[in-house]
Amino acid sequence: MPRILTRSHALKTRAINLLAHWVGGCVLCGSHRARADYSSRLCAVCDAQMLGRTQHRCAGCAAALTTNDHLCLSCQQKPHAFSASHAFSSYKGLAAQLILRYKFHHDLSLAPLLTDITQHGLSCVSSEFDCIIPVPQFDALTHSRGFIPLAHILHSVNPHALVRQPQTPIILPNALMRLHHAQLQVGADKAARREQVKGAFAATIDLTGRQVLLVDDVYTSGATLNEAARICLSAGAQSVAVWVLARAGRI
Ligand SMILES: [Zn+2]
Ligand SMILES: [Zn+2]
Repeated sequence: MPRILTRSHALKTRAINLLAHWVGGCVLCGSHRARADYSSRLCAVCDAQMLGRTQHRCAGCAAALTTNDHLCLSCQQKPHAFSASHAFSSYKGLAAQLILRYKFHHDLSLAPLLTDITQHGLSCVSSEFDCIIPVPQFDALTHSRGFIPLAHILHSVNPHALVRQPQTPIILPNALMRLHHAQLQVGADKAARREQVKGAFAATIDLTGRQVLLVDDVYTSGATLNEAARICLSAGAQSVAVWVLARAGRI
């Protein structure tokens, strides 16, 4: 787990962001090097620090695999409520720092870059979906400030530009609501974690026949995503797949 940046470091990087935005450089390092293919705000060197982007991943849980297997052993033994998972990056290196700075340090200057990443990532998802539903996040501090990180990013995503889909998906930001926030216990096994998050969500609309893409920032144990998918299916969804900014955990 990368360390949370200190306040002085955060202020320094925010200054770089503002300056870079002003002069058109990379928002992370300020350089004018060649850009990443998915964002004009990011240079190729910083892009290379988004670790695990080209790594082969388990189709079920998006865990990075060192073999060419379709599914990891865990997914072979116990499938999830969702049918497939996709991750933009591994939750380490620059991707982890980006998410931490944005989510917990409220560095909103990173929002356009995270929107570029999300836009690109959703375009690359090959499974079909007709609606995008964010997993409701709950953090008393962020909600008290009126800042909901994932919703803020998805609000800027253009669903018409998701070219791989047969039809333009719609974004349903409030299709799920969070009823309670379970504190997942470190070291708990998969079954225990699934039990802890049971009843955490409710569907606010009928999802009959919908092909849902659940979107979250980080996939850790998968228990929260599994519960959200289970609720979507019980609300009538035909299928549920998952896309996350970053996949934590197993290599
Ligand atoms: Zn850079
Ligand atoms: Zn897996």
